Amino acid sequence: MINLKVVMNTFDISRKLFKRAVRVIPGGVNSPVRAFRAVGGNPLFIERAKGSRIYDADGNSYVDYVLSWGPMILGHTHPAVIRAIKKAADRGTSFGAPTALEIELAELVLKIYPSMDKVRMVNSGTEATMSAIRVARGFTGRDKIIKFEGCYHGHADGLLVKAGSGAMTFGLPDSPGVPKAYARNTITLPHNDVDALKKMIEGQWRDIACVILEPVVGNIGCVLPQPGFLEAVRKLTRKNGIVLIFDEVMTGFRVAFGGAQAHYGIKPDMTCLGKVIGGGLPVGAYGGRKEIMAMVSPEGPVYQAGTLSGNPLAMTAGITTLKELSRPGVYKKIEKNCVQLEKGLRDAAKRAGVKTRFYRAGSMFCTYFTDVDVLDYETAKTADTKKFGVFFSEMLQSGVNIAPSQFEAGFMSLAHSEKDIDHTIASAYKALKKI
Ligand SMILES: *Cc1c(COP(=O)(O)O)cnc(C)c1O
Repeated sequence: MINLKVVMNTFDISRKLFKRAVRVIPGGVNSPVRAFRAVGGNPLFIERAKGSRIYDADGNSYVDYVLSWGPMILGHTHPAVIRAIKKAADRGTSFGAPTALEIELAELVLKIYPSMDKVRMVNSGTEATMSAIRVARGFTGRDKIIKFEGCYHGHADGLLVKAGSGAMTFGLPDSPGVPKAYARNTITLPHNDVDALKKMIEGQWRDIACVILEPVVGNIGCVLPQPGFLEAVRKLTRKNGIVLIFDEVMTGFRVAFGGAQAHYGIKPDMTCLGKVIGGGLPVGAYGGRKEIMAMVSPEGPVYQAGTLSGNPLAMTAGITTLKELSRPGVYKKIEKNCVQLEKGLRDAAKRAGVKTRFYRAGSMFCTYFTDVDVLDYETAKTADTKKFGVFFSEMLQSGVNIAPSQFEAGFMSLAHSEKDIDHTIASAYKALKKI
């Protein structure tokens, strides 16, 4: 039996840092999901991380399932990645001119994602989706876009309509500051609803530039595509000259090495990547079919640029991460970890008598505190956020770090050990017993 005794220090230093932070940074954080508003309390300030663990400023240690919201699939401070970054830094941190590194990462990405003929590097997932949509509009000469409720595609204007976890957690489905004229060009449909999509496209196909979606919706937890949904989206978009964009910023390299498109066997016209592709440094990417990417400046007329895009440190972290991921046995080990955790969590909920739904796609997963099958935004909302709050605090006290919101996915890394996962399962059982 696992020894659950975790001696926690106080959270005094984090508390003090947070007090300082709120004076100079809105809400004390540089991205809203980092705040603990949904679960109460102050965010932890992190000092360092190694492998499966992160360490806060008070010296507490946690098994980490946030993994920087997905990127750290190899675990934190992976030796090969850190070594490569240090070496690259010695040669210079930014040139604003092409480097061989950019070609290397692009070639790697195109090999892993054969639906893309060309790819452009940017600095975040937000930039990737925002740019891909601009290109899709330029390519089709149409203005409207279709997105699905609960899908998050970054924080660009026009995409913050029913946009998943951050907005959901804070009760802001639509953000002030987005001009109505922008939002008007965003059509939002219920996820997994083929009929709604069919009806909309039949009526307005002449105006619709693209359909963008998360093939597995990670930004309301983990919502799987219903059988036939992605196939229907592909068919309807192709038939009507609409660009299909898979936002694989989260699912890329997680649902499978080749993303959800490899797992489900669907070929989108464009793909957005982020998170894992930068191995912990800021990288996003968008790419697609030749004739679409030929629209991108300077090859074509659609403008999109970036002073730090293709940054040598970021490219190096990305290249090294993808190379490590392509080693034999890596995905097998991650899958083994996930199976152990899934089995353990399902069993713990059963033993504790707490009704939950657990979903997983590759190394992203979510436990919902609900007795309803979660198929979309509406059913995700049935989850009991109070119960989640209790669960979150108990897990933290046991030294397990999960995202401070019911509507976020959890992530697994290569670095998690059997012991880490056993500890997590035992902690979860103890936490569930308190609900
Ligand atoms: C995280 C995420 C984004 C935004 O990426 P950033 O790097 O945070 O700008 C876009 N789409 C999806 C699906 C994401 O999960």
